[in-house]
Amino acid sequence: LDVSEIEAVTCLGCGCLCDDLTIRVEDGRIVDIGRDCALGKLWFTSLAEEPEGPAAWVDGRVVEVAEALDRAGELLRNSRAPLLFGLTQVSTEAVRAGLALADQIGARVWLDRTQADLGRVAAFSQSGRVSATLGEVRNRADVVVFLGGDPTATHPRHGERYSIDARGRFIAGRQARFVAIVGEPSATASFQPDFLLPCEPENELELLTFARSLVRGGRADPSRFAARTGIEPPAVAQLACGMGAASYGAIFYLCRQESFADAAACWEAVSALVRDLNGLGRRFVLLGIGSAGNLAGAEAALTWQTGYARNVDFRLGAPRPIEEFSTVQEVIERGGVDALVLVGIEGFDSRLETHDVPLVAIAPGASPSNQPAAQVAIATATAGINGAGTVMRSDGVTLPLRPPLRSRRPGVDECLRGLLARISSKDGPINA
Ligand code: SF4
Repeated sequence: LDVSEIEAVTCLGCGCLCDDLTIRVEDGRIVDIGRDCALGKLWFTSLAEEPEGPAAWVDGRVVEVAEALDRAGELLRNSRAPLLFGLTQVSTEAVRAGLALADQIGARVWLDRTQADLGRVAAFSQSGRVSATLGEVRNRADVVVFLGGDPTATHPRHGERYSIDARGRFIAGRQARFVAIVGEPSATASFQPDFLLPCEPENELELLTFARSLVRGGRADPSRFAARTGIEPPAVAQLACGMGAASYGAIFYLCRQESFADAAACWEAVSALVRDLNGLGRRFVLLGIGSAGNLAGAEAALTWQTGYARNVDFRLGAPRPIEEFSTVQEVIERGGVDALVLVGIEGFDSRLETHDVPLVAIAPGASPSNQPAAQVAIATATAGINGAGTVMRSDGVTLPLRPPLRSRRPGVDECLRGLLARISSKDGPINA
C-alpha cells in the first residue's frame, strides 16, 4: 500500500476554511482528513477521484488542451460583449488571471454570489465596517452572537476553532462566553446556546432596528414591534443586555434575505448596531460567517485590481462598477452578452440558459455532458484537492492550499493565463 500523510491542508468545504487537516492518502485516494468533520470528509472524498480520460473538448470533440484554448481565444477575439462568470470556487491566482483576461478582452466580470452578498458589499462600501480576524475573536470574545444562521449545520468546526468552545489567549473557552443565536430555531439541538431567539428572515430588519433602539436607550414602541413581528420585546431586551455587557463581542451574520435591497438594509442595520455597541465603550465586531470556496479571495482580488468590490465592466477600456443589481441571467436574457466564459462553475446551471451565446467552460467538472451548450470545455484540477494556489478566509486572512493529490490536468489559472497569452499575442485590437 502506498501511504502518505500531508499536514496543514486547507479545506474549502465551508467558510471555516480549516487549515489544520492531516490528509491520509492511500494508493492515490484520500481516505481520512484527520479531523471529525463529516462535511470536510465529504468535500475531500467526493471530489478526490479525478476521472480518467480527456480533459478538453471543442464542439463535443476530444482535443488537446492547447487546441481548446486556441478555439476559446478565437471565440473571445470575435466577441464584442463577453462576460466572465463564476470565479468564486477557484484560487485567488485564478481570479487574478481571469481579471487580466477580462481587462484584455473588454469583458464584464460577474462573480457567482447571491443578492445577499451584493447587499453586504453595498452596505460596507457605503458605511464601512468594524471587523476583526477570527483569531482575534477566538482570543478575546466573551460574547458571540450568531445572527441568521446555524453554524453547527453549515460550519461544523466554527465553534471548536474560533467562536464557541475555542480556548483563546484571554478566554478560557465555552464557560467564559455568552453565546446567542438569533434566527434559526432548528439550531438548538447540538448548539446549546445560552440564549435563543427564533426570528424569521422577514422580521430581521425590524429586530435589528428595535435592538439598536434599546442599545441606544431610544424610545421604540415595544407593543408595535411585537404586533408586527410576533417577537416578545423582553427577549430582545435580554439580547441587548447580553451584548451591552460584553468586554469584547462578535456578531457572525448569515444574511437570509433574497433581494438585494433587503440584504443591503439588513447589513446596514447590523453594522449600525455594532457601531452603537462600540459607542458604549464595548469592543464589538461584525463578521460574515463565510461561504465554501473562495468568495472572499475573489472579492479581494476584484477590489485590489479594479478598485471595486461590485461586479465590474471593462468594455470601455477601464474598469467601471456595474451599478445595476440585476442577475446574470437577466443580462443574458436581455441579449447583452455574445460570449460567456464560465470559470469554476460545475455542471449545468439553469441560471445560464445561454440562448446560443458561445460558451467556454473551464472547471474541474467541465465536459460536454455537464455543459452541453459549451463550444469549448476544459476540465481542470480542483483547487485544494489536486490544484495549488492560495485562498482567503472571510476575515481576510490568506491561506495556502496544500493539495494532497496531483492532477494530470491544468489548473484554472493556467488555462486562463494560456487564453490571455493567445489573445495578447495576436496582432490588432481586441473586439475591433
Ligand atoms: S468545518 Fe468546514 S472547512 Fe473545516 S473541515 Fe469541516 S467542512 Fe472543512
